[in-house]
Amino acid sequence: MNRIYMDHAVTTPVAPEVLQAMLPYFSNLYGNASSLHSFGLEARAAIEVARSKVAALINAEPSEIYFTSGGTESDNLALKGIALKNRKKGRHIITSSFEHPAVLEVCKTLTRLDYSVTYLPVTREGLVEPDAVRAAIRPDTILISIMHANNEIGTIQPLHEIGQIAREKMIYFHSDGVQTAGKIPVDVKALCLDALSISGHKLYGPKGIGALFVRKGVKIESIQQGGGHEGGLRSGTENVPGIVGLGRAADLAKETMTDEAKRLTALRDSLKEAVLGRIDESWLNGHPSQRLPSNLNFGFKYIEGESLILLLDARGIAASTGSACSSKKLAASHVLTAIGLAPVECHGSLRITLGRSNKLEDIDFAGQTIEESVSRLREMSALGPR
Ligand code: PLP
Repeated sequence: MNRIYMDHAVTTPVAPEVLQAMLPYFSNLYGNASSLHSFGLEARAAIEVARSKVAALINAEPSEIYFTSGGTESDNLALKGIALKNRKKGRHIITSSFEHPAVLEVCKTLTRLDYSVTYLPVTREGLVEPDAVRAAIRPDTILISIMHANNEIGTIQPLHEIGQIAREKMIYFHSDGVQTAGKIPVDVKALCLDALSISGHKLYGPKGIGALFVRKGVKIESIQQGGGHEGGLRSGTENVPGIVGLGRAADLAKETMTDEAKRLTALRDSLKEAVLGRIDESWLNGHPSQRLPSNLNFGFKYIEGESLILLLDARGIAASTGSACSSKKLAASHVLTAIGLAPVECHGSLRITLGRSNKLEDIDFAGQTIEESVSRLREMSALGPR
């Protein structure tokens, strides 16, 4: 059976060019970048080349890039590191109600440490309103953290407007850019960002590597103490192959992003029309146009998303319902709940996220297979009309 992967928001394969770049660093160029001998110097040089490439992807300076183990760690470091370092200035943080758990769970922890957090609501289309950000600011607000694009519904947030508000009020501004870096242009200067989280495995790099951009001058403290690697912000022997892979992935994304975003937008729109045109009582979650080129999130009445995923998988299509982290739980997705869907509507959701391997013929097959699978489930369903 031909297997079609349409779950690129969860993870992407390592690009062949990325793998080639990484391979020598496992067994030939295996030095520890802290060593003073030639093995160490080779590793250090490779790390610094990768740092420049990651910086170039987001218009940052190389010295503003800190390598981490992934998006989760970058979010933890940004929020906890900025909150702890600036606690004398204030203890209030503003975020949105539909952030990734890597932000929401950190906020819960900070609340236990006597910080207070405002969770902004989002619109039905999944947007955080800049006016709501402005209204939530208090004299003790030290940090605003709003994700660049939502991982479930793909809505791209008005970061530029929010960034300007943050800069005007002299409040640090962090964004979880895990779903956007390498997919759409991200310019940390134009967006007035003080910190941005990136993850390797979402942009055709390896798992277990990520980066945090921290603007020069931002007051942040380390949350992992040790040998003082990464300018003292993130101790731990550097994952050299992973870092090299992330650098090459960033480079590749920069080269191909414009054409790939156009191609994916066309595929996305054609699948959207096929599904919504052929299936009654179906809808699109998220914003109709202000969304990632790769993302579709459908709602279908009278079905369970989990059953649809299994049926699609049996026909060779890999997709998801809810986010990766919550797809094994039966709780309604906090993102779909945040945009105002009733729990029963959340359960009938299907997220398709396209990527480099998807071709036009996959779209035709997916459209037809989704239609047949939804019909079959509705025939068996106890949830609605038969
Ligand atoms: N933030 C967002 C928006 C994500 O989609 C994810 C992963 O799904 C993460 C953070 C966590 O990234 P990582 O898997 O690299 O820890």
